[in-house]
Amino acid sequence: MHLSSETFDANARAALNDAQLRGALRKATSLFGKRRLEAARSLENWEELRTQARAIKDETLLHLDRYLEEFTANAEKAGAQIHWARDAAEANGIICRLARERGARLAVKAKSMATEEIHLNAALEANGIEAIETDLGEYIIQLAHEAPSHIIAPAIHKTRVQIAELFTEKLGINKTDDIAQLTITARQVLRDKFAAADLGISGVNFAVAETGTILILENEGNIRCTTSLPKTHVALMGIEKVIPRFADLEVFLKLLPRSGTGQHLTAYQSLITGTKRNADDEGPDELHIIVLDNSRSRMLAHPTTRQALACIRCGACLNACPVYQQIGGHAYGSVYPGPIGAVITPQLFGLSRAAQLPFASSLCGACREVCPVKIDIPELLLHLRAEIKETSKVRDQRSERVSPNRAEQVAFRLWAAVMARPRLYELSGKVFRFLQRSAARDGAIRRVHGLLGRLAPPLAAWTGTRDLRPIEPETFREYWRRAAHD
Ligand code: SF4
Repeated sequence: MHLSSETFDANARAALNDAQLRGALRKATSLFGKRRLEAARSLENWEELRTQARAIKDETLLHLDRYLEEFTANAEKAGAQIHWARDAAEANGIICRLARERGARLAVKAKSMATEEIHLNAALEANGIEAIETDLGEYIIQLAHEAPSHIIAPAIHKTRVQIAELFTEKLGINKTDDIAQLTITARQVLRDKFAAADLGISGVNFAVAETGTILILENEGNIRCTTSLPKTHVALMGIEKVIPRFADLEVFLKLLPRSGTGQHLTAYQSLITGTKRNADDEGPDELHIIVLDNSRSRMLAHPTTRQALACIRCGACLNACPVYQQIGGHAYGSVYPGPIGAVITPQLFGLSRAAQLPFASSLCGACREVCPVKIDIPELLLHLRAEIKETSKVRDQRSERVSPNRAEQVAFRLWAAVMARPRLYELSGKVFRFLQRSAARDGAIRRVHGLLGRLAPPLAAWTGTRDLRPIEPETFREYWRRAAHD
């Protein structure tokens, strides 16, 4: 089922009630988080690398036109053919035309967020071309007719048992939840597809202006097969993928795998510069690189939103985000979920279609802490919130409608009034502590005996899905007064 960003609140509520989903997410995100931390600690100059990476991205984005021209000129010199696509429709049109002109019936695909963004599979299908995902996670969700729920681990939300059931149903194998056996099954199916495919379609991790090279990272070897076995290779890249120099790759190769999976380096790094030089060489006869804008130049134009284009799609902010950890990727209704998705989705697909997403954050800053390119996601979220509020204010004034968030506004005004009056603040703490006495057990207010949660609707939203820590018996002010007199 494909969910929409417009119904984020309802999607999130449904996800919170899915215990299996939350269990799978907890396991996967905490493992990724732990591995990332260990991998980052293995480098003494981690912080320095983050600063360098951001500086490289900032420099590139500031002169993007120049670096794109340099990249495309060098790629063409090496034998690649460049195509520019203003939006998803144009990119799909170009790829489908290339496929039709070559009489293609079957395309193998490597994992690529950009192809998900433009819904390429549906476009190919409409043109009578079968598109097979070859990354194991992508293959699983394609079999399940679902969308990816994580930038680097598309099937993160699925348990081993669910995958076993899916393989039995779709591939007709005997039921087994042995991971090795399931992987062998997928490999056997996909090998035949690689051999028969007319077209190989991939994304791009980095495009080097200096040499016209594209770099694609992976762990399964499927990208190697996708980009070298079919006669034609089509690579789709957003305009932000370009970096100036070959030497810059060293910085990103240290940061991206460590931040994504906690690996020091991915198992494969494919550096592709043009087409093969001799007939006997391995590789496709043709390389087509589609350079996609799709609203990115609008993001580039604003100094605040520009930094979102520095994203290298490592997924670390998803794993660190307390919201993503609870609801997973599908609730965002976008190919880009989590904190960076909440920033990118409204800008790519329109504020009105994803207006709830920038509010899906506690602004705790965990995403900013882990981001290898130091993107200030909370700043971007606040920027988008202000923009959304401004737009809805104008709309409300025009239609003389009362803002649907009036209750929230009143609650925050009350909160501000209490916070500004020390005596009132102290009194409210005492009232809360008195009320919580009937609800707290063993150091937590839980749903099972959530009297407070049931009686007070704003708190019920919290205790409905997790425990609430009671307010300490002694406030900081009381402690301070006591300590001063001791
Ligand atoms: S915003 Fe940063 S942490 Fe999140 S996916 Fe992009 S690069 Fe990774």
